Amino acid sequence: MLIVEPKPIEEVLSFLEGEASIFIAACGGCPVGAEVGGEPKALEMKAQLENAGKRVTGYITIDFLCNKALSGLHLARHISEIEKASCILVLSCGVGVQAIANTVDKPAYPAFNTLPMRGVPGVWQSTERCNQCGDCLLYLTGGLCPITLCAKSLLNGSCGGTNNGKCEVDPQLDCGWYLIYERLRRIGRFEILKRYVPPKDFQRYMPSAELRNSRLWALERKGA
Ligand code: SF4
Ligand code: SF4
Repeated sequence: MLIVEPKPIEEVLSFLEGEASIFIAACGGCPVGAEVGGEPKALEMKAQLENAGKRVTGYITIDFLCNKALSGLHLARHISEIEKASCILVLSCGVGVQAIANTVDKPAYPAFNTLPMRGVPGVWQSTERCNQCGDCLLYLTGGLCPITLCAKSLLNGSCGGTNNGKCEVDPQLDCGWYLIYERLRRIGRFEILKRYVPPKDFQRYMPSAELRNSRLWALERKGA
């Protein structure tokens, strides 16, 4: 299980500036354990966005949104609502946001931070990874994680070693930043690359004392 916490609504609205219409995809898996999942949270977010003047074209709740095959099937039923939206706001862990980004050619933004717990996603059978950094950056990358896709976890673009879309550390691997450039170009958000990302706060990589005293932590340790 991965543990998430909602980002402050001010932060969500700041990266949604310029996005007039939004489709909400909420996970009904792990976030339910943290009491921030499923339809209640989707409806709460819908109300907050509408209060801020945004148009919500629709919403969906998917149990274990990190399962791309399952998510794809559910999203297909909402295709007209998704087409009317300029982006998708995803209420899930970082794996779920990436799963949606890799399923739909729309910007996928994270509504949650994924906290360091060292757990695993609920149903996850694919290539997306989250390092549980505690401060999700996927709104700056079109929904792909630079921390797990780049061998050096670079935050502000590729190193000098990227070669024809491959990584200098392991030429068998795609360069994570090449994938991010290509995705931002495809979804028409290339200008996001002009934003500077400050160094990560590594204290957020440590589980907080509050989390270590929670029943979720006890359950996760029991299963480890
Ligand atoms: S930026 Fe990457 S590692 Fe951090 S929470 Fe998001 S998906 Fe996970
Ligand atoms: S080549 Fe790309 S993925 Fe590899 S370390 Fe450099 S920026 Fe990161």
